[in-house]
Amino acid sequence: MPELPEVEVTRRGLLARLPGRTVAGISCSGHALRRIIPQRLLAAHIAGQEIATIDRRAKYLLIRMVSGAVMVVHLGMTGKFSILEQQAPTHRHDHLIMRLDDGFEVRLNDSRRFGSIEVWPAETAPEEEARFSREEGIEPLGGEFTPDNLFRVASNRRIPVKVLLMHSKIIAGIGNIYANEILFAAGLHPLRPVNQLTIEQWRTVVQLTRRILQQAIEAGGSTIADFLGAEGHPGYFQLQFQVYGRKGLACSRCAGTISKTVVGGRATYYCACCQSL
Ligand SMILES: [Zn+2]
Repeated sequence: MPELPEVEVTRRGLLARLPGRTVAGISCSGHALRRIIPQRLLAAHIAGQEIATIDRRAKYLLIRMVSGAVMVVHLGMTGKFSILEQQAPTHRHDHLIMRLDDGFEVRLNDSRRFGSIEVWPAETAPEEEARFSREEGIEPLGGEFTPDNLFRVASNRRIPVKVLLMHSKIIAGIGNIYANEILFAAGLHPLRPVNQLTIEQWRTVVQLTRRILQQAIEAGGSTIADFLGAEGHPGYFQLQFQVYGRKGLACSRCAGTISKTVVGGRATYYCACCQSL
């Protein structure tokens, strides 16, 4: 499932190509994703409009039109954008095709259809965006992701630190892969109750979260099953995994081996020696 780095890699791929282009037309497969694709809103507010820029909030891409309208896309489990010439063959599971004014098309392929597309018309976009953004957690690469804020959020909770890192209403965009990697780097056991962490430990978590997410973005994200950036390239950060998917393999820091357990219903990898409870 794409996490923050993969969505950010997708954003950068789209950002290199789309601003200044006009959406000449839109067609949809007719299949619903997680929700029905709002074809009438797309036709009314996105088709015919010039693209201004592409932002990201949490794991959503905000494709902003010069008009002020916004197309909001979530990649779900398997969503992938590609930018291709109009004559390039289409694929099964291409659920949205935006024709551009330069002979290219932006296609959203989503085999498992857990993604979503929403449209905010220009008149209501500011309110809808404010409401949407309030529901999402702190951006780990933004200014509010500080040791003080995390310490405060954690002080009256007893949930495991891994569950907090993955709690999308508290921290945006960190999923199972990066939560595992961050906790190994920080030397914290995934089950440590968050109210036991010191401000110093939160400082370490903040620094390492930023570093790991940035390194993953620079590596083009992680390609486990089938993630591809908008340019069609896989990511390579999976080659740098220290714990994720490495059960029984040697720890990179000590003589121990990586263990696997389940925390919050998710596969959890850690070194019992480097990350003691
Ligand atoms: Zn170790």
